[in-house]
Amino acid sequence: MDSYDVVIVGGGHNGLVAAAYLARAGRSVLVLERRGETGGAAVSFRAFDGVDVRLSRYSYLVSLLPKKIVADLGLDVRLLRRRMSSYTPTGDSGLLVDTGDAGRTVASFRAVTGSTADFAAWQRFYELAEGVAGRVFGTLTEPLLSEVDFRARVGDAEAWSALFERPIGETLTSWFGDDTVRGVVLTDALIGTFAPAGGEDLRQNRCLLYHVIGNGTGDWDVPVGGMGAVTGSLAAVAAAAGARLVTGAEVLSVAPDGEVRYRRDDAEHVVHGGHVLANVAPATLARLLGEEPADRPEGAQLKVNMVLSRLPKLRDPNVDPAEAFGGTFHVNETFSQLERAYREAAAGRIPSLPPCEIYCHSLTDPSILGPAERAAGAQTLTLFGLHMPARLFEGHNEEAREAALRATLASLNSVLAEPIEDCLLVGPDGKPSVEAKTPLDLEAELGLPAGHIFHRDLAWPYAEDPARQGKWGVETEHERVLLCGAGAMRGGGVSGIPGHNAAMAVLGS
Ligand SMILES: Cc1cc2nc3c(=O)[nH]c(=O)nc-3n(C[C@H](O)[C@H](O)[C@H](O)COP(=O)(O)OP(=O)(O)OC[C@H]3O[C@@H](n4cnc5c(N)ncnc54)[C@H](O)[C@@H]3O)c2cc1C
Repeated sequence: MDSYDVVIVGGGHNGLVAAAYLARAGRSVLVLERRGETGGAAVSFRAFDGVDVRLSRYSYLVSLLPKKIVADLGLDVRLLRRRMSSYTPTGDSGLLVDTGDAGRTVASFRAVTGSTADFAAWQRFYELAEGVAGRVFGTLTEPLLSEVDFRARVGDAEAWSALFERPIGETLTSWFGDDTVRGVVLTDALIGTFAPAGGEDLRQNRCLLYHVIGNGTGDWDVPVGGMGAVTGSLAAVAAAAGARLVTGAEVLSVAPDGEVRYRRDDAEHVVHGGHVLANVAPATLARLLGEEPADRPEGAQLKVNMVLSRLPKLRDPNVDPAEAFGGTFHVNETFSQLERAYREAAAGRIPSLPPCEIYCHSLTDPSILGPAERAAGAQTLTLFGLHMPARLFEGHNEEAREAALRATLASLNSVLAEPIEDCLLVGPDGKPSVEAKTPLDLEAELGLPAGHIFHRDLAWPYAEDPARQGKWGVETEHERVLLCGAGAMRGGGVSGIPGHNAAMAVLGS
């Protein structure tokens, strides 16, 4: 039986980060990835026949990847900042947050909300969040602090109450008067998280926290070349350091003593790892260990990828579509619309007006377009639909996918001056360039349990359990088996943090 210092189950970006750190530290490393390529949920893909556009098929923006990891590993990752933070259509007008022109943003708040009070509150809220970000982000790549020490690090009683203690719905309704403004902030609490704004378990607060602390600023940047460029660089660094990356290798079981069975090319193989790092979700690891999963995660989003022949016209004459789609374009995401969509989905129905947000990658980074598509002015749209839980698709995924896509495009059309269908690029096969991924599709393609994009609901970034204080948040009940994926503490998103932390746990043991 072949033996390695470390066997990594799954070659998502976190598995690659762990592999790179460990191989550079001289450990022998084997990465086993089920799919034909590494990268997991962070890959680029030509999704439409005959259309040369490399879409970030699943994840698309980077915030949480620490500069420290990029520097430590010498990654060739280039990120571009977006000038337009967001645009939210409201009737024939819209709320534009232009980070390059405060005067224009204030005027937009005044036009949409009737005063500048919410703009002042907005500035204060994000200053408060940025203060927290600057003080805590560095702790994510260090051993876990206790809650008391973490709170001391936050060092701001108002921020602690607003972000960590009160349900975010309460915070937002007390800070902001306008339904649209409240909704724009709330969306970051609901990405991949099926919860009401006022949920007592504060899952939505944890989700918001991870959306506002990335690299001490909370900025969400565009990876040049798409997500595939990020994971391509990681794979190259890991391989150059000596890690063995094997694709098409599905792990069938993991034993606590480090034995890993996998299938490749219709043959079964057994290897042994001094440590086994699980880049797969904790529920998947439990199954591989022959154990009962501790939780049953549920994803709650519809991802839609499109290539357009041109951007659609807006109802708002004051904003250019290239500005509106250059940041996050919010569709039917006021606070009350989000709450209604949650209630409808919780009752088992596709939301009547699905809330979603859209972003046009090719405006910031046209390098993902092939030469002909670029010359013809093609653009990409990536749409992330909220409150589409896996339960809506179970037992009838195909029909429900069609119904969810129809409802989502109708929701988008409700804020445009022309139907999006008229702008879709038609490929050489005569088909419009649009695809939708339900949570069940993500489970089938990526192994995300019920399509949960963070493998399971996010945890607070400190040790709630005192026994975990000083540890890396990657430990399992089995000494040799560690988590190294999004389901670890301080996991979720394209961050590489759990991969880094698992590598540190191995190197320190
Ligand atoms: C639609 C979508 C949009 C998102 N948007 C963003 C975004 O814009 N920004 C952001 O920061 N985050 C985003 N996320 C979340 C982010 O992509 C994930 O949290 C992150 O990529 C998880 O990385 P990972 O390496 O931990 O796990 P994964 O990427 O899930 O990788 C796990 C790997 O394990 C493999 N695997 C599974 N089972 C087995 C097995 N039995 N044997 C071998 N291999 C196996 C899988 O094929 C996969 O490659 C998004 C996610 C999705 C799905």
